[in-house]
Amino acid sequence: AKRIYFFDDPEPVGRELLGGKGAGLAEMTRIGLPVPYGFTVTTEVCREYYRLGGRLPDGLKEEVIQSMHKLEDKAGKKFGDPSNPLLISVRSGARVSMPGMMDTILNLGLNDETVLGLARLTNNERFAWDSYRRFITMFSDVVLGISKDEFEKVLDEVKEKEHVKYDAEVSAEGLKEVALKSKELVQKITGNPFPMDVWEQLFMAIEAVFRSWNNPRAILYRQLNNIPDDWGTAVNIVQMVFGNMGDDSGTGVAFTRNPATGEKELYGEYLTNAQGEDVVAGIRTPKPIKEMAQEWPNTYAELTHVAALLEKHFKDMQDMEFTVEKGKLYMLQTRSGKRTAQAAVTIAVDMVHEGLIDKETAVLRVSPEDVNHLLHKRIDPSAKGNPIAVGLAASPGAAVGTLVFSAEEAVAEASAGKSVILCRPETTPDDLHGMVAAQGILTTRGGMTSHAAVIARGMGKPAVTGTESLKLDLDNGVVTAPGGVTIKRGDVVTIDGGTGEVFLGALPLVEPEVSAHFEELLSWADEFRRLGVKANADTPEDAALARKFGAEGIGLTRTEHMFLGHERTQIVQDMILAETTEERMVPLQKLLELQRSDFIGILKAMDGLPVTIRLLDPPLHEFLPEPHEAAKELEQAKRNGAPAEEIERLERLYRRTVQFQEHNPMMGFRGCRLGIIYPEIYEMQIRAVAEAAVELKKQGYNPRFQIMHPLVGTEEEMKFLAEMTHKVVNEVLGNNGIELDYKVGTMVEVPRAALVAGDLAKYAEFFSFGTNDLTQLTFGYSRDDAEGKFLGAYVQKGILPEDPFISLDRNGVGRLVELGVTEGRATRPELEVGICGEHGGDPKSIEFCHQVGLDYVSASPYRVPLARLAAAQAAL
Ligand code: ADP
Ligand code: MG
Ligand code: MG
Repeated sequence: AKRIYFFDDPEPVGRELLGGKGAGLAEMTRIGLPVPYGFTVTTEVCREYYRLGGRLPDGLKEEVIQSMHKLEDKAGKKFGDPSNPLLISVRSGARVSMPGMMDTILNLGLNDETVLGLARLTNNERFAWDSYRRFITMFSDVVLGISKDEFEKVLDEVKEKEHVKYDAEVSAEGLKEVALKSKELVQKITGNPFPMDVWEQLFMAIEAVFRSWNNPRAILYRQLNNIPDDWGTAVNIVQMVFGNMGDDSGTGVAFTRNPATGEKELYGEYLTNAQGEDVVAGIRTPKPIKEMAQEWPNTYAELTHVAALLEKHFKDMQDMEFTVEKGKLYMLQTRSGKRTAQAAVTIAVDMVHEGLIDKETAVLRVSPEDVNHLLHKRIDPSAKGNPIAVGLAASPGAAVGTLVFSAEEAVAEASAGKSVILCRPETTPDDLHGMVAAQGILTTRGGMTSHAAVIARGMGKPAVTGTESLKLDLDNGVVTAPGGVTIKRGDVVTIDGGTGEVFLGALPLVEPEVSAHFEELLSWADEFRRLGVKANADTPEDAALARKFGAEGIGLTRTEHMFLGHERTQIVQDMILAETTEERMVPLQKLLELQRSDFIGILKAMDGLPVTIRLLDPPLHEFLPEPHEAAKELEQAKRNGAPAEEIERLERLYRRTVQFQEHNPMMGFRGCRLGIIYPEIYEMQIRAVAEAAVELKKQGYNPRFQIMHPLVGTEEEMKFLAEMTHKVVNEVLGNNGIELDYKVGTMVEVPRAALVAGDLAKYAEFFSFGTNDLTQLTFGYSRDDAEGKFLGAYVQKGILPEDPFISLDRNGVGRLVELGVTEGRATRPELEVGICGEHGGDPKSIEFCHQVGLDYVSASPYRVPLARLAAAQAAL
């Protein structure tokens, strides 16, 4: 295989070898866009570099030299030739974009002689020395490991001497002084002179780009984004074009559509008389691209045209880098643009309407995680006061938190359980861990394409950038807003990344709405999916929310919360304290009435859709105080001379707490075991459901309930429970002369239930895999203990591929699910099977559920839209 490809190579290879940047440059060259010429050294060479223990493979240098000669011919300039020097950039570029994580060097090929040639040739001393001092800084930073700050100081001294504020105002003499002093600095720090041999510069730079694949921030970025460590980076050698040649030159970044909202408009920023990274680095706050329409109308028109061509070619929104050299536009990069969830949805839907892509592509293009982000909280519109400052609306959503001023603080405070807003002048890749820990990001410099903005959008985190009216005093941990309001470290602020507003204090946040675009995308998803999507909801409010998000029923209503609350706990305790069945009937009657109205609420909210109601599941001691508390209360009552009746009750209570104490409550006296030993409890619940349905039916509603028995593990349990259910329901229906369809079924959550599924299905009309408990019991992990203690370490060591409570374990738990489905359906072909564990809202697990032929997944209301999309993607 070839190790080097020119941008116009006749046999195109993909991004695996060329990296995303190289592939994009080649593609743009091929469709005739103005791209400076150059070539790409493949990612395979990088992998080989590492295999050789950090050495360039034999013969590579010769190939690079030959390729440089070809570039020289094409450019009509010579590398290292003072009379007409060729300058190049040496750029990293992995298979997928890792923005700003690896290194790039511009203006390579400059030395003490070529800089003079460049000045003579362009008749622009200032430009030549500016390029040279930039090159020395970048090369020293990337190749020699000397911090940019050192060179920044040199520049600052000169700026001070010349009494100017911005880099672009420093004189030619001044820049020359910066260049010379920077070289001296290198000599002083490394003990060696700055390399003057341009070929030596080139090979050192190539190696440094390869090494940058493994710098700590790139490694962290790969971890966070699940990018394999062994892909390697390509190296792109590109002839330089110059945005720093004066006021008719500049550099910028633009998106073909708005990456925050998805609106169809050229969107981006540029800086005049600037080079490369000035825009993203947040050195000066750049101008919005719209201003270019006035400043350079021709260039603006050309850029608009290029944007349209690129979208037509790539059929996706593009993020472009360009440079304008003396009025001429050059394209330097294109890639699929990162976008907010909202933009992802809007763009996908709009592109279908524009005929660029089909519905399937649109559905596949929005990630389920994006959908999750879409359901961002907003500030309650009625609570919005006056912001203390307004910056750029860089990444939507609202966040409330205490203000911190460094990534380290953010991590420390967040791990102490606090919600934090990370405030920085501008973030750099070194702040990544702090951004991960924070709820929101606030910066005082940098635009919509600054590091903070790009990364926050990728993470789906609210961010406000370029809030220049805030004066940030990092040393003292204070921010001053216009009007003199000061905010100190630890004060609470609210930011709105959808408007750019910053507020003092904690504003109330409200739940998100589903936009029209989103609605349309989900309706397409519904066309493609086979899996049904239901919700887990315990209250009429949750049920209504789930329905709004498109749930086709409730897959799990837990009834235990109906036993909580002060008044109800008292009644439940009376029920537990009862010595005889008759005695128990009094509190049960009270509970019956309370639960009936609960069920009316839920069945009404889900009118016409099936509602699966799970009977009481937790062990009874959860409704009792701890034994030592009961003992204390009893003692106190005695001491205070309480009435005998009261004392007798407390004595009984104490005895019961001791009696119900368990060593392993998770595997103890709970679930249907309660319903079988105390049938009157389950009978009461079933009656409450049936009576609720009857009442609604009489009112003209269409209630559809399914009674689900938890923790069943044997055929006899199922038989007992099914018979009990039919008896009670039929009695209620019969007494009222009403006919209703309902179902009896079980949760499959004990491994044995899956193993004897064929027998259970004789009595159960539906199964719902309770994969939380099924995972606990199959692995023998108690979730609460495992997650804090060893699961993380297991995943890190590769003993488990991932947390089985988040993503269903296909090889183990998944096989039980498959077995349950197959054997259950063998007995009862029309058996309905679903899943109601948290896995029902996890995209990977949803894909599995589709593959094994479940009828539906049930997820929490907020994950219903995600589940609809993931179910469609599984089917496509
Ligand atoms: P990154 O991956 O960090 O964006 P790039 O390799 O894209 O790094 O380069 C950094 C900056 O330098 C970008 O703004 C890019 O447009 C600019 N740049 C790269 N190569 C050239 C070149 N040959 N001429 C002018 N500008 C360049
Ligand atoms: Mg770039
Ligand atoms: Mg369970």
